[in-house]
Amino acid sequence: MLLRLCLAVCLVSLCLYQTPLQAELKTIQLITMGGAITGTQKDALSGKFKLSSRSAETLVAGNIEILELADIKFKELYNIPSQEIQQKHWIKLAKEVDKAVNDITIDAVIITHGTDTLEETAYFLNLTVKTKKPIILTGAIRAALHPSSDSTQNLIDAIRVATHNDAINKGVLVVANGKIISARHIQKNHNHSLDALESSELGILGYVHNEIIDFHQASIKKHTYYSDFDIKTISELPNVDIAYAYSGGLSNIKKTAIKGLVVAGVGSGNIPMTTLKELKKLQKNNIQIVRSSRNVGAPVYSSKGSEINDAYLNFVSANNLSPQKARVLLMVALHKTSDPNKIRSYFKTH
Ligand code: GLU
Repeated sequence: MLLRLCLAVCLVSLCLYQTPLQAELKTIQLITMGGAITGTQKDALSGKFKLSSRSAETLVAGNIEILELADIKFKELYNIPSQEIQQKHWIKLAKEVDKAVNDITIDAVIITHGTDTLEETAYFLNLTVKTKKPIILTGAIRAALHPSSDSTQNLIDAIRVATHNDAINKGVLVVANGKIISARHIQKNHNHSLDALESSELGILGYVHNEIIDFHQASIKKHTYYSDFDIKTISELPNVDIAYAYSGGLSNIKKTAIKGLVVAGVGSGNIPMTTLKELKKLQKNNIQIVRSSRNVGAPVYSSKGSEINDAYLNFVSANNLSPQKARVLLMVALHKTSDPNKIRSYFKTH
């Protein structure tokens, strides 16, 4: 009898002790999009990535204690390699994230995503979801069930950043390999190396080391809450293509069904003179031209010394956005306006 009483007292005190601890857990909406982070490898020795059939379960298979870091609500939105992600996927994801951040029971959103195009999705969300709540993207270079996968560690780090108050109002963030990177700066810079998800030369925002979250800076370009764009008003996006410049030429330009063209120019967004004439013809069909650089992270400006006069040609320069990110901003900008001056101002501020 005494033993039973003791057991009951112990159980009650355990419950009382655990309640305040559990109440402190933040709630995260975790959205899975596919990619290696939720994938398996073909066999134990192969690094070859294969999509798994149940992505959320694969995520916690590496370490069930992940569930102790936060109250996690799983949602598999897609299960695809990130090279398959198109505008319609971005829009659906952004609307889903928007719904989550407007839910008072959700504190933060984490999105797991293939790393190949993670930077484009991250930047799209950074431009279109109006919130101060943390939105974190993460991925993995080695598949979730690879013997030395970075999947579990990146997920744990993402949860730690997402639940930390310092991540509030920083715009969309990418967490990978112990680093916190702004969606504005993130760029995949390697294919196999574990530090493939890096930033442009502007650098990372901070570090994650076990439970320590250490921010050093933030991007001051307009993002999320302060952005001029809002996913609530977007149901489709105009098509924008990218043309790649090289010595003496420019890759084939699709003349139909596009509203904008980003040129990955040489050097400071330069394009050979013969192809400039081609671009002028495109403009007559109301196609907006944006000049970026094929040099990673290098800014393209319209200065008095520029070889191409943007104001005269009605072109826009892309600042330090990569061609693929300039494409994202041009789509969102063209959704709102076709005025080159207005588009130019978006490229300066976002
Ligand atoms: N192509 C795959 C993807 O981006 C590669 C695996 C990965 O890095 O996530 O989804």
